[in-house]
Amino acid sequence: MAACPPRTPVTVPLAQARGLVLASDVVATEAVPSFDNTAVDGYAVRAADVAAAPVTLRVVDEVAAGAVSDHVVEPGTAIRIMTGAPVPNGCDAIVMVEETERVGEDAVLVRTPVSPGDAVRAAGSDVTPGTTVFTAGTPVTAMVEGVLASINAREVTVHAPVRVAVLSTGDELVDDGSPLRPGQIRESNRTMLRRIIAEAGAEVVDLGIVRDDEALLEQVLTDAVETHGCDALVTSGGVSMGDYDVVKAVLARVARMQWFQIAMKPAKPFAFGTLPVRAGGAVPVFGLPGNPVSSLMSFELLARPALRQMMGHPHPHRPRVRGIVDEDVPRRRDGKTHFDRVHAFWGTDGRVHVRRTGPQGSHQLASTAVANAIMAVPDGEGVRAGDTVTVTFLGPDSGPSAQF
Ligand code: AMP
Ligand code: MG
Repeated sequence: MAACPPRTPVTVPLAQARGLVLASDVVATEAVPSFDNTAVDGYAVRAADVAAAPVTLRVVDEVAAGAVSDHVVEPGTAIRIMTGAPVPNGCDAIVMVEETERVGEDAVLVRTPVSPGDAVRAAGSDVTPGTTVFTAGTPVTAMVEGVLASINAREVTVHAPVRVAVLSTGDELVDDGSPLRPGQIRESNRTMLRRIIAEAGAEVVDLGIVRDDEALLEQVLTDAVETHGCDALVTSGGVSMGDYDVVKAVLARVARMQWFQIAMKPAKPFAFGTLPVRAGGAVPVFGLPGNPVSSLMSFELLARPALRQMMGHPHPHRPRVRGIVDEDVPRRRDGKTHFDRVHAFWGTDGRVHVRRTGPQGSHQLASTAVANAIMAVPDGEGVRAGDTVTVTFLGPDSGPSAQF
């Protein structure tokens, strides 16, 4: 996390800010709504005139959204008004059309009394000028974009987008649909990671499958940084203890490596380093293991929070809660935390419950794929049905608060 600070702020047109994170507070310079207007279709009246309703008032004008009435509502009169139109001078409330009955061309019967201010949306009642609408760290969601449009924020300051290169390594991998030759397998990690990285909010640069060849891999990694201008690299495979673990070998040579083994299962092998850039600085490299479930888990638990932090999210972690495990999950002591893939749901007791989605082998992506959460099983003899475990959701993000 320390090697992955938030990217430098840039100012972009609002239309390009979607999915990025505000790098400075947004202070409103306009009121929303900008004038007192009516919340309903009806008649602009003086509340005092209709206190003894039913009463009949003379209709002196009509005003629709986008227009302004130059009439004043004098005692005994009303103005026909449509939703969103400016409240005319002289009146102090709007009677809904449903509470009225038109009497000929120029009169209306008001059936019920109203109080001053009824159905009037006051200027600034959504956003007051001078107030901070959004603080730095707020993601520009569709709703936030809507509010920014409402206050005429033509440009916003956001953390620069993060460009992430993704590649798979392995002589055994194919992705062209051809029949498998002996020893070949179909590539799946990069296919999955591309989407997960895009869902996390980054731009993806797909560098394809790279053969287990150190010189080739070194060239591809260098190009990712120097030619494609990537801000981070995610690789799959080649970081364990095998003789052909090229990612490990190349990174050890060209990058500043931080670690190789993590006390977790799946996904014990993991390489993290920073690759120097000729122009200055360095970009983080996340070397995920090749087993598909390990690849996913190390991305989720190790790489994703770092990438989210680079994007400027102040709370880059997934939401985490305490949940009840509904089955015995035995395990042996091995010095590692086990992360099992589970289905999490709200039980009739109002608490979060979890059940494993299926087999937990690090190659068994099919059962992992339908999980919506990860359960942490601490080192030891395992957990029993009814025990409390930590549950990390694979779904939504923590949002503006670190609490779920
Ligand atoms: P490695 O980490 O390179 O030793 O690979 C560990 C296991 O994951 C091996 O069985 C590989 O065939 C498999 N594997 C590696 N990369 C991928 C990939 N991109 N898609 C699917 N399986 C992979
Ligand atoms: Mg390999």
